[in-house]
Amino acid sequence: MTAIEDAIKKAIVAAGRLQGDLSIRDRIDRSHGQIDVFGVLAHLDVPLLFRPLEGLLGAFLNEPSPGVLVTTKRPLSVQRFTAAHELGHYYLRHKPSLDDESILRRSPFMASRNANLQEVEADAFAASFLLPQWLVVRHCKRQGWTTADFTSARIVYQLSLRAGTSYAATCWTLARYKMLSRSQAKALSEIEPKTIKKAILGSVEPTNYYGDVWELTEADRGELIHGGPGDLFILRLEEHAGAGYLWRLDELDEHGFALREDTREQYHESEQAGGPVTRRIVAESKRQQNGALRLSEARPWQPNSIANQYAVDLDLYGPESEGFSRAERRFRLEAA
Ligand SMILES: [Zn+2]
Repeated sequence: MTAIEDAIKKAIVAAGRLQGDLSIRDRIDRSHGQIDVFGVLAHLDVPLLFRPLEGLLGAFLNEPSPGVLVTTKRPLSVQRFTAAHELGHYYLRHKPSLDDESILRRSPFMASRNANLQEVEADAFAASFLLPQWLVVRHCKRQGWTTADFTSARIVYQLSLRAGTSYAATCWTLARYKMLSRSQAKALSEIEPKTIKKAILGSVEPTNYYGDVWELTEADRGELIHGGPGDLFILRLEEHAGAGYLWRLDELDEHGFALREDTREQYHESEQAGGPVTRRIVAESKRQQNGALRLSEARPWQPNSIANQYAVDLDLYGPESEGFSRAERRFRLEAA
């Protein structure tokens, strides 16, 4: 075994050990399908501060005592990967490290022979800590995905949103678990997320492409969506128009969303007229918000005769801002 492969294995084992020690797997439903890496640092009593860093994504310092800095200038998924990388440096007792963009460009489970072993370990630790194999399996079970679905960039992207990982890191991590071949992972990782968002949105032009595009499903009911202030949501809802029931889209505006598209998918020929149709709704979040996206299907002349409801809880704050993480502030409040 080469020194590189040794370092990668050591880091993956360490990430699994820390997850075991903190019973993260047992608590994954409470953290809504994401590993709460900022909460883990708070729990371990490692100070984590967000700062508008210049030219750096993050840093691990250990003089006089350990601490982590993460930039405020990048999206939440990058902040989470950076924090997990710095957590790796801490947990593997590394030397102090200043980390720039190169931690995103590297594949977390491959390195050239002259690579810095400490960085190889921190990358592999970060990727496997944020997306352990059991977490991929959990999301597959919920959403009804099989590994064959991972050849679709769209599905890998939807997995990355739900797990709170970056799209490229998700591709490489699936290859590590042999759920994709290396060449498939390479081809997928070269597709820009913007291209995937465009393919999902079709004719809808978002306000900007920073927002993520969530294809919500029945399995997302009752989950908490961790997203950003400009994210878009696609809902496909069965509508019983023949019986007079319609989805009430006026509720979107009340909840801070703009309706961007509303279409009814064609009746299947074999279906009788008047049977249920599928209504496809594209909604764009208008602000930073914490609440729910809730819609009800009712008869317009009997608004209280609700036949169905669709609801997901949302945390659309986006990236962490300067200071302590939201997880740490909650943790401190609970401890007080
Ligand atoms: Zn590093």
